[in-house]
Amino acid sequence: MYVALFDIDSTLLRTQGAGRAAFAETFRAEFDIERIRGDISFAGRSDRAIVREVFTQHGIEDRPGTWQRFRQGYLQRLERTLVTRRGCLLPGVLPLLRAIRERSDIAMGILTGNVAAGAWLKLRHYGIDSFFDFGGFGDHRLDRGGIAADALGAADAYLRTTHRLSAEPALTTVIGDTPEDVRCARCIAAKAIAVATGDSSLSDLAAAAPDRAFPDLTHRDAVLGIITAA
Ligand SMILES: [Mg+2]
Repeated sequence: MYVALFDIDSTLLRTQGAGRAAFAETFRAEFDIERIRGDISFAGRSDRAIVREVFTQHGIEDRPGTWQRFRQGYLQRLERTLVTRRGCLLPGVLPLLRAIRERSDIAMGILTGNVAAGAWLKLRHYGIDSFFDFGGFGDHRLDRGGIAADALGAADAYLRTTHRLSAEPALTTVIGDTPEDVRCARCIAAKAIAVATGDSSLSDLAAAAPDRAFPDLTHRDAVLGIITAA
């Protein structure tokens, strides 16, 4: 068996800032933060880690109650901002997902810093949620390596319940648009495919030493070749 773990933002789809807008509106409406201080980086990070950083910078206590308040406010707003921003699926994504679905020896999951409910909202909004059966998400983890371990555990549970767990461990590939995606693939001894449809250039990505880096996911057969390589 093979497992393909996809990052969401700038790998499968682009929300044209719907996620960031929902973040900013939630901090404004729920926590009186008019402008987030400093230059917060979003790419490749978990929602939990981003929110902790903003809380810390603005002197808000990071405890379960404040986190849940943020999370609920964010999910409500994300549903709206996804409609108002005109995002899109990235080139080659739909044909690639369809080609993988044809193969009974590849299981497809998500590996993202998004909170799980936010991840599924985005996937559903762009009509690709049904391709994915499990995932690792950013509700609790501060680091992407931990999310990768969660995704691997979820893949294992999924393969077990569908009676597809083989004697040898499944060969896993992580597909993402940042050097962090490549690094978290290595944390779980997975292959890494990097795709330059986000802020990282092909040379930025190559510096993280993925198995292959592509300009986009239109290189379907080459991507499938890596996912199914021993
Ligand atoms: Mg991404």
